[in-house]
Amino acid sequence: MPKILVVEDEPGIAIALEDDLTMEGYQVEVTGDGPTASRLAREREFDLILLDVMLPGKDGFEVCREIRRAGVRTPILMLTARTQEAEKVMGLELGADDYVTKPFGVRELRARIAALLRRSQIPAPSRVFRIGDAEVDFARAEIRRGREVTVLTPLEFKLLELFARNRGRILTRDQLVDGAWGVNTIVSERVVDNHIGSLRKKLEPDADHPRYLRNVRGIGYCFDDGNLTQT
Ligand code: CA
Repeated sequence: MPKILVVEDEPGIAIALEDDLTMEGYQVEVTGDGPTASRLAREREFDLILLDVMLPGKDGFEVCREIRRAGVRTPILMLTARTQEAEKVMGLELGADDYVTKPFGVRELRARIAALLRRSQIPAPSRVFRIGDAEVDFARAEIRRGREVTVLTPLEFKLLELFARNRGRILTRDQLVDGAWGVNTIVSERVVDNHIGSLRKKLEPDADHPRYLRNVRGIGYCFDDGNLTQT
Protein backbone atom coordinates (compact mmCIF):
# COMPACT_ATOMS: atom_id res chain seq x y z
CA MET A 1 0.00 0.00 0.00
CA PRO A 2 1.80 3.20 -1.13
CA LYS A 3 2.26 5.82 1.57
CA ILE A 4 1.44 9.42 0.75
CA LEU A 5 2.34 12.48 2.80
CA VAL A 6 -0.27 15.19 2.25
CA VAL A 7 0.96 18.68 3.13
CA GLU A 8 -1.98 21.05 3.11
CA ASP A 9 -3.00 23.66 5.67
CA GLU A 10 -6.58 24.28 4.53
CA PRO A 11 -8.55 21.80 6.66
CA GLY A 12 -11.35 21.35 4.10
CA ILE A 13 -8.97 20.37 1.33
CA ALA A 14 -6.78 18.29 3.63
CA ILE A 15 -9.72 16.23 4.87
CA ALA A 16 -11.12 15.75 1.36
CA LEU A 17 -7.70 14.60 0.12
CA GLU A 18 -7.23 12.25 3.02
CA ASP A 19 -10.66 10.68 2.54
CA ASP A 20 -10.31 10.31 -1.18
CA LEU A 21 -6.79 8.90 -1.17
CA THR A 22 -7.60 6.51 1.67
CA MET A 23 -10.59 5.27 -0.34
CA GLU A 24 -8.23 4.77 -3.27
CA GLY A 25 -6.18 2.44 -1.11
CA TYR A 26 -3.31 4.69 -0.14
CA GLN A 27 -1.95 5.05 3.35
CA VAL A 28 -2.22 8.76 4.08
CA GLU A 29 -0.51 11.02 6.56
CA VAL A 30 -1.50 14.69 6.75
CA THR A 31 0.34 17.70 8.07
CA GLY A 32 -0.54 21.38 7.77
CA ASP A 33 2.75 23.17 8.26
CA GLY A 34 6.04 23.42 6.44
CA PRO A 35 8.57 22.56 9.16
CA THR A 36 6.70 19.37 10.14
CA ALA A 37 6.40 18.37 6.49
CA SER A 38 10.12 18.83 5.98
CA ARG A 39 10.95 16.77 9.04
CA LEU A 40 8.53 13.94 8.22
CA ALA A 41 9.75 13.74 4.64
CA ARG A 42 13.33 13.35 5.81
CA GLU A 43 12.73 11.02 8.73
CA ARG A 44 10.17 8.66 7.29
CA GLU A 45 9.70 6.75 4.11
CA PHE A 46 6.91 7.90 1.81
CA ASP A 47 6.18 6.86 -1.75
CA LEU A 48 4.89 10.29 -2.69
CA ILE A 49 4.53 13.76 -1.22
CA LEU A 50 1.62 16.00 -2.11
CA LEU A 51 2.90 19.47 -1.31
CA ASP A 52 0.92 22.69 -1.17
CA VAL A 53 2.85 25.90 -1.90
CA MET A 54 1.27 28.31 0.58
CA LEU A 55 1.93 26.92 4.03
CA PRO A 56 2.50 28.37 7.48
CA GLY A 57 6.02 28.29 8.89
CA LYS A 58 7.81 27.44 5.68
CA ASP A 59 6.39 27.44 2.18
CA GLY A 60 6.24 24.46 -0.14
CA PHE A 61 9.23 25.63 -2.17
CA GLU A 62 11.43 25.79 0.89
CA VAL A 63 10.21 22.37 2.04
CA CYS A 64 10.93 20.95 -1.42
CA ARG A 65 14.41 22.44 -1.47
CA GLU A 66 15.22 21.14 2.01
CA ILE A 67 14.17 17.59 1.42
CA ARG A 68 15.99 17.37 -1.92
CA ARG A 69 19.11 18.79 -0.31
CA ALA A 70 18.86 16.08 2.30
CA GLY A 71 19.03 13.54 -0.52
CA VAL A 72 15.41 12.40 -0.29
CA ARG A 73 14.20 11.44 -3.73
CA THR A 74 10.55 10.74 -2.95
CA PRO A 75 8.37 11.98 -5.84
CA ILE A 76 6.84 15.38 -5.09
CA LEU A 77 3.59 16.60 -6.59
CA MET A 78 3.10 20.31 -5.92
CA LEU A 79 -0.29 21.96 -5.52
CA THR A 80 0.00 25.38 -7.11
CA ALA A 81 -2.37 28.27 -7.68
CA ARG A 82 -3.84 28.48 -11.16
CA THR A 83 -2.70 32.00 -11.78
CA GLN A 84 0.89 31.57 -10.76
CA GLU A 85 2.75 30.26 -13.80
CA ALA A 86 6.04 31.16 -12.10
CA GLU A 87 5.18 28.86 -9.20
CA LYS A 88 5.06 25.83 -11.43
CA VAL A 89 8.44 26.54 -12.94
CA MET A 90 9.98 27.30 -9.59
CA GLY A 91 8.66 24.10 -8.04
CA LEU A 92 10.08 21.98 -10.84
CA GLU A 93 13.42 23.76 -10.65
CA LEU A 94 13.62 23.01 -6.95
CA GLY A 95 13.12 19.31 -7.53
CA ALA A 96 9.37 18.74 -7.63
CA ASP A 97 8.34 16.08 -10.16
CA ASP A 98 4.99 17.46 -11.25
CA TYR A 99 2.29 19.90 -10.24
CA VAL A 100 -1.47 20.17 -10.15
CA THR A 101 -3.15 23.55 -10.23
CA LYS A 102 -5.81 24.49 -7.71
CA PRO A 103 -8.71 24.04 -7.89
CA PHE A 104 -8.12 20.54 -9.16
CA GLY A 105 -10.47 17.69 -9.92
CA VAL A 106 -10.18 14.50 -7.93
CA ARG A 107 -9.76 12.42 -11.07
CA GLU A 108 -6.93 14.52 -12.37
CA LEU A 109 -5.16 14.31 -9.06
CA ARG A 110 -5.58 10.53 -8.87
CA ALA A 111 -4.20 10.16 -12.38
CA ARG A 112 -1.18 12.34 -11.64
CA ILE A 113 -0.43 10.44 -8.45
CA ALA A 114 -0.69 7.09 -10.20
CA ALA A 115 1.56 8.27 -13.03
CA LEU A 116 4.18 9.56 -10.64
CA LEU A 117 4.18 6.36 -8.61
CA ARG A 118 4.63 4.34 -11.79
CA ARG A 119 7.49 6.54 -12.90
CA SER A 120 9.26 6.28 -9.57
CA GLN A 121 9.34 2.50 -9.82
CA ILE A 122 11.63 2.72 -12.81
CA PRO A 123 15.11 1.91 -11.54
CA ALA A 124 17.38 4.86 -10.91
CA PRO A 125 19.62 5.87 -13.80
CA SER A 126 23.12 4.52 -13.91
CA ARG A 127 24.95 5.68 -10.83
CA VAL A 128 28.30 4.68 -9.53
CA PHE A 129 29.50 5.48 -6.04
CA ARG A 130 32.97 5.11 -4.67
CA ILE A 131 33.17 3.91 -1.09
CA GLY A 132 36.73 3.61 0.12
CA ASP A 133 38.48 1.33 -2.35
CA ALA A 134 35.21 -0.10 -3.67
CA GLU A 135 32.95 1.05 -6.47
CA VAL A 136 29.23 0.52 -6.10
CA ASP A 137 27.38 0.32 -9.38
CA PHE A 138 23.66 0.65 -8.71
CA ALA A 139 22.71 0.13 -12.34
CA ARG A 140 24.37 -3.29 -12.37
CA ALA A 141 23.77 -4.09 -8.70
CA GLU A 142 27.40 -4.93 -8.16
CA ILE A 143 30.38 -3.88 -6.11
CA ARG A 144 33.79 -3.74 -7.74
CA ARG A 145 37.06 -3.75 -5.92
CA GLY A 146 39.96 -3.82 -8.34
CA ARG A 147 39.20 -6.76 -10.61
CA GLU A 148 36.96 -8.46 -8.12
CA VAL A 149 33.25 -8.10 -8.84
CA THR A 150 30.60 -8.99 -6.26
CA VAL A 151 26.96 -9.11 -7.23
CA LEU A 152 24.40 -7.79 -4.74
CA THR A 153 21.26 -9.77 -3.96
CA PRO A 154 18.01 -7.81 -4.52
CA LEU A 155 17.67 -7.26 -0.76
CA GLU A 156 21.25 -6.13 -0.32
CA PHE A 157 20.75 -3.80 -3.25
CA LYS A 158 17.64 -2.26 -1.70
CA LEU A 159 19.34 -1.89 1.66
CA LEU A 160 22.40 -0.26 0.18
CA GLU A 161 20.30 2.08 -1.92
CA LEU A 162 18.38 3.06 1.21
CA PHE A 163 21.61 3.69 3.09
CA ALA A 164 23.10 5.67 0.22
CA ARG A 165 20.03 7.90 0.10
CA ASN A 166 20.18 8.45 3.84
CA ARG A 167 23.87 8.57 4.49
CA GLY A 168 24.89 10.01 7.80
CA ARG A 169 21.47 9.26 9.24
CA ILE A 170 20.61 6.49 11.63
CA LEU A 171 18.04 4.12 10.17
CA THR A 172 16.05 1.98 12.58
CA ARG A 173 15.44 -1.69 11.81
CA ASP A 174 11.78 -0.80 11.19
CA GLN A 175 12.78 1.79 8.59
CA LEU A 176 15.08 -0.74 6.94
CA VAL A 177 12.26 -3.30 6.83
CA ASP A 178 9.80 -0.75 5.40
CA GLY A 179 12.29 0.38 2.79
CA ALA A 180 13.83 -2.91 1.71
CA TRP A 181 11.25 -5.62 2.41
CA GLY A 182 8.15 -3.42 2.12
CA VAL A 183 5.74 -1.63 4.42
CA ASN A 184 3.76 -3.94 6.72
CA THR A 185 6.19 -6.80 6.25
CA ILE A 186 7.14 -8.58 9.43
CA VAL A 187 10.82 -9.41 9.55
CA SER A 188 12.73 -10.36 12.67
CA GLU A 189 15.66 -8.26 13.86
CA ARG A 190 17.97 -11.21 13.32
CA VAL A 191 17.03 -11.46 9.65
CA VAL A 192 17.75 -7.75 9.19
CA ASP A 193 21.09 -8.17 10.96
CA ASN A 194 21.97 -11.17 8.80
CA HIS A 195 21.42 -9.21 5.61
CA ILE A 196 23.43 -6.30 6.94
CA GLY A 197 26.17 -8.81 7.74
CA SER A 198 26.23 -10.15 4.20
CA LEU A 199 26.18 -6.62 2.79
CA ARG A 200 29.15 -5.74 4.99
CA LYS A 201 31.11 -8.72 3.68
CA LYS A 202 30.74 -7.32 0.18
CA LEU A 203 31.17 -3.66 1.02
CA GLU A 204 33.62 -3.38 3.88
CA PRO A 205 37.37 -3.94 3.56
CA ASP A 206 37.14 -5.77 6.90
CA ALA A 207 33.61 -6.93 7.71
CA ASP A 208 34.55 -7.75 11.31
CA HIS A 209 35.52 -4.14 11.90
CA PRO A 210 32.99 -2.21 9.78
CA ARG A 211 33.96 1.31 8.84
CA TYR A 212 31.04 2.42 6.69
CA LEU A 213 28.03 0.52 7.89
CA ARG A 214 27.99 1.14 11.60
CA ASN A 215 25.77 -0.51 14.17
CA VAL A 216 24.05 2.00 16.45
CA ARG A 217 23.34 0.01 19.57
CA GLY A 218 19.67 -0.42 20.37
CA ILE A 219 18.54 1.66 17.39
CA GLY A 220 19.73 0.44 14.03
CA TYR A 221 22.42 1.25 11.52
CA CYS A 222 24.13 4.26 10.08
CA PHE A 223 25.94 4.40 6.77
CA ASP A 224 28.66 7.00 6.46
CA ASP A 225 32.10 7.18 5.01
CA GLY A 226 32.50 10.93 5.11
CA ASN A 227 33.55 11.14 1.50
CA LEU A 228 31.14 9.03 -0.49
CA THR A 229 31.49 10.49 -3.94
CA GLN A 230 29.35 10.09 -7.01
CA THR A 231 31.26 9.52 -10.25
CA1 CA B 1 -2.26 26.47 1.60
